[in-house]
Amino acid sequence: MSLRRLPLLLALALSIPLSAHAIEFSADELQRAKALQQRLLTLDSHLDTPANFGRDGFDIDNRHDHNALSQVDYPRMVEGALDGGFWAIYTGQGDRSPAAHLRDRDAGLQRLLEIRTMLAANRERFALALTPADAVRIKADGKRVVFISMENASPLVADPSLLSFYHQAGLRMLSTVHFANNEFADSATNPKGPEWDGLSDAGKALVREAVRLGIVIDQSHASDAVFDDLVEMMPVPFVLSHSSAKAVHDHPRNLDDARLRRLAKAGGVIQVNAYGGYLVDPGKSEARKQAEEALSKRLGGWGKMDIAQGVELQRGEEELDRQFPVRHASLDDFFAHMGHILDVVGPEHVGIGLDWDGGGGLTDLRDVSELPKITAWLLRRGYDDKQIAGIWGGNLLRVMQQAQAHADKQGT
Ligand SMILES: [Zn+2]
Repeated sequence: MSLRRLPLLLALALSIPLSAHAIEFSADELQRAKALQQRLLTLDSHLDTPANFGRDGFDIDNRHDHNALSQVDYPRMVEGALDGGFWAIYTGQGDRSPAAHLRDRDAGLQRLLEIRTMLAANRERFALALTPADAVRIKADGKRVVFISMENASPLVADPSLLSFYHQAGLRMLSTVHFANNEFADSATNPKGPEWDGLSDAGKALVREAVRLGIVIDQSHASDAVFDDLVEMMPVPFVLSHSSAKAVHDHPRNLDDARLRRLAKAGGVIQVNAYGGYLVDPGKSEARKQAEEALSKRLGGWGKMDIAQGVELQRGEEELDRQFPVRHASLDDFFAHMGHILDVVGPEHVGIGLDWDGGGGLTDLRDVSELPKITAWLLRRGYDDKQIAGIWGGNLLRVMQQAQAHADKQGT
């Protein structure tokens, strides 16, 4: 045994990490990574940023540093070389009463209007993309790419025929469900477990209609049984817009290796998430949860805060970290998930959906300005430009192309 191996064995025996240092990149590596991103189309498949469009004081043209409500704006997109992505119409799951269904319907339409209003007010910097070719053209024009997606189909429960209107207004990706079950599908995280054993009949009809229209189906947040239903019924590949690996952290929102392989076999793509609670166990105490709720309530509730209050929220959260420490996920944790998924399915079936402005972000990847760190890691891992282009959006757009070609063939 060489002496050099001794520290390794000792460390293993004592279960001490060999290095307490988090991953770091040199200025040269980051510069090279950013230059590569500037040449490629660089898309994130899950931006919750539209939740900020209606907030008082939010202007996408301004930087919002050190603000717990904001990780994405035009200046930081330029700094991190992010061309755009899928901007979500997110609706929190209501209580499923008839009145809640109408509220969800209106909330979805309101968010759609806010996205279109942002686009109309920023024609010089942003443009709506309806097809993969649009995204390429928009980048060539020097603008940022806005595909519209929907997270949680609850706005469609009251009137599923609204899907056709959303499609006309630009919707190109649809997820069925969020944190709790709805009329269409079982959630991966419903407190009382499954209700439909996958998709309900209404959910299957909704998915069929989305496929007919050429809308990409997004499995993130839905239960494994929904995944299995989709594999069975989908004539085209589907995606997970922001999910990670169950083998690395056993959380119901993450996908197991067998399903990862089935997804890839069906031609689909998983976009790796940076939502800390899905990457590691944060070990959040009941006292911390209550303190977080009290903080949010003191500032008027997450949905009602103006953008300036995000700075106060940030300071409050930092204070809570001192009082009730939790384990925050870092890039090392994210790369453990991404590396595992890349090893299982290969770079043609992996992408990036970091849940920005929806709870995503890491201790050393706080906002989109730091994205070249991910590209630097991919370069270190030895992927070539073409593979990295696939991961940064090409794979996802391949699925979209297939969805749209299928719809065209059916004569939509
Ligand atoms: Zn989500």
